[in-house]
Amino acid sequence: MERLEKDKQLKRIKEEVIKCQKCSLCQTRNLPVIGQGNHQAEIILIGEAPGASEDKTGRPFCGQAGRILDELLNSAGLKREKVYICNILKCRPPQNRNPQKEEIEACTSYLERQIAIIKPKIIGSLGNYSTAYLLEKFGLKNKIQGISKIHGQVFETKADFGPIKIIPLYHPAVVVYNQNMEKVLKNDFEILKR
Ligand code: URA
Ligand code: SF4
Repeated sequence: MERLEKDKQLKRIKEEVIKCQKCSLCQTRNLPVIGQGNHQAEIILIGEAPGASEDKTGRPFCGQAGRILDELLNSAGLKREKVYICNILKCRPPQNRNPQKEEIEACTSYLERQIAIIKPKIIGSLGNYSTAYLLEKFGLKNKIQGISKIHGQVFETKADFGPIKIIPLYHPAVVVYNQNMEKVLKNDFEILKR
């Protein structure tokens, strides 16, 4: 797809999400977080949901988890400008609670369209929710396990637009609670790079 056409289609999603009332999170959020990055990206990173900082700015991974993500990208020699970053849920759950099943069901048509427009070769799924959703969506439901079991593995599958690799990764926020996880995440981001 041509660059301008991609820009146009992604902009259309943005306009829809801004008006979206498909789940109750629209009542408590400040700004929705649609996605950010390179529309020609070969790699999409998909997190869980906006946190407090993201809800204020409308930009994905701009708070504490975002600083860790930037470090991980840097250490693997990947540039944030080269990838596209978004979340399963576009609106912040109150008190950062876990996404609920109905919210994921309501919201992921936007994510599906973002993937279909960008047509990445690789999807890095950050954390359990994103990983379970993507493996199921791409016909790998039987591979779903906790992130501690499958992080860093490369699952090859097919999207409508061609072959695609799904790489489950720990969510960068785990480093906030456990510094030792940084090494594990750095390793996994090396795999993403390769
Ligand atoms: N955590 C996420 O999963 N996504 C963000 O955008 C920020 C924090
Ligand atoms: Fe709509 Fe998704 Fe926001 Fe729910 S989380 S209101 S489905 S954009």
